[in-house]
Amino acid sequence: MALKLHPSIDNGIKKGNSSFAGGVLTCKCANNPVKVQITGNTAHNHACGCTKCWKPEGAVFSVVAVVPRDSLKVIAGAEKLHIVDPSATIQRHACKDCGVHMYGRIENTGHPFYGLDFVHTELSSEDGWQEPQFAAFVSSIIESGFPPAKMGEVRAQLKSIGLEPYDALSPPLMDAIATHIAKANGKLAA
Ligand SMILES: [Zn+2]
Ligand SMILES: [Zn+2]
Repeated sequence: MALKLHPSIDNGIKKGNSSFAGGVLTCKCANNPVKVQITGNTAHNHACGCTKCWKPEGAVFSVVAVVPRDSLKVIAGAEKLHIVDPSATIQRHACKDCGVHMYGRIENTGHPFYGLDFVHTELSSEDGWQEPQFAAFVSSIIESGFPPAKMGEVRAQLKSIGLEPYDALSPPLMDAIATHIAKANGKLAA
């Protein structure tokens, strides 16, 4: 039997629509939910095994993507948002009532991913968001208590649905981070 990893990938991956214009993310509150509007599609959508990203009840991975911060706007319930860990690199703005993370923002202007917000498109009822492209921080699921002996099975299942498993971010993103650091250090021309 297949492992349950995340509802968005357990039944195969649904292709997104490259001309998708965006939509609204809604938290899980029945009353006065927080709503976040995103203009345009997401990029770098991926399954993430880290312990910090929000995931739905029972999921082993989160599914998280990025959008330019200028294309994200809180349109309802802003007063219910709080920052989960103000000392974290990615400040995750979560609903105080239901706990869902509505967006993660990097405030350090020197960070390689400054300017991008992290979002979970499963919070939207619209179709067309970019589909997951790869799986990141796969080994980190063990830190949440996942049995190490089943890691082979997890990686095989991810590959079978087209998500290459990595224990960091994908190579292009790791290269982008290293390039940013090398330019900041003067090792590469800016
Ligand atoms: Zn809520
Ligand atoms: Zn994560």
